[in-house]
Amino acid sequence: MLKDLPPTIGTGLHGSIPPRRYWAYYTWQEIDAIAKSDPNATAVINIGAVEQHGPHLPLITDTLVGMELLGGALARLSDDVMVLALPPTNFGKSTEHHDFPGTLTFSGETLRMVLKDIGTSVARSGFSKLVLLGSHGGNVGTLDDFFRDLRIETDMRVFKIFLGGIGQVPGLVAPAEAAIAMHSGDTETSMVRHLTPELVHMDRAEGWIFDPTPDIGYSFKGNDVIEAWIASDLSRTGAIGNPHPSSAEKGKIMCEAKAARLAELLEAIYRSPKREVRQAPKDQEDRR
Ligand SMILES: [Zn+2]
Repeated sequence: MLKDLPPTIGTGLHGSIPPRRYWAYYTWQEIDAIAKSDPNATAVINIGAVEQHGPHLPLITDTLVGMELLGGALARLSDDVMVLALPPTNFGKSTEHHDFPGTLTFSGETLRMVLKDIGTSVARSGFSKLVLLGSHGGNVGTLDDFFRDLRIETDMRVFKIFLGGIGQVPGLVAPAEAAIAMHSGDTETSMVRHLTPELVHMDRAEGWIFDPTPDIGYSFKGNDVIEAWIASDLSRTGAIGNPHPSSAEKGKIMCEAKAARLAELLEAIYRSPKREVRQAPKDQEDRR
């Protein structure tokens, strides 16, 4: 059962997560009781980033967007859906932004080790499902390479959700922008203008549409050749995309669509059955 806590308590450590959905506010015995009474109990961790987001958005944009959308999704779940949010990793793998001051990055190895240790701890607590959530594209490759290992090592069901890929609302962003923008452009700027307008400096915004190299381009979206670019290859300002068409109104529509879709996904993960331990295939037994 969810802990009986009001929406506001005497600390803000949970950020945008409803306090009763915040793993770290439970006692060890309460977590133990949940794990023993609900075989589908699910933990979700937002994997963030602290990295340059152009001249107009704060360094913590990716952690901020991830936590706000996760908080919005958890608030939509009914009480019988036992999904708890772990404290996030505020840092991620942001090596592609290391030329810009303020960026604080893990290496891919560090991020993998952090998630392995956290995942192992969740499994040891008796939970059988873990969701790796994030809005920072730079973490995706590390997670793709790693999350199956985590399933093998912990025997949990392990899922990953990239917020950039869910709850898309057609028609909000111009096709030319959607084709190349990926950092501090219309979408991300609109969401932060909605969530925390105090942290956005539109008077300093300077988008950057890079010039693709003829024939191959700095291809990164569905092309045959992908170059190992870093942000300073593509942009002088750090923004890769056009923030000027952004608006808080668009951001509200984007955030609500993503939070609603995330809530559906978290509930579906929770309701899917715990994986049963499988026997070795029969023919292997026969060969012994
Ligand atoms: Zn970002």
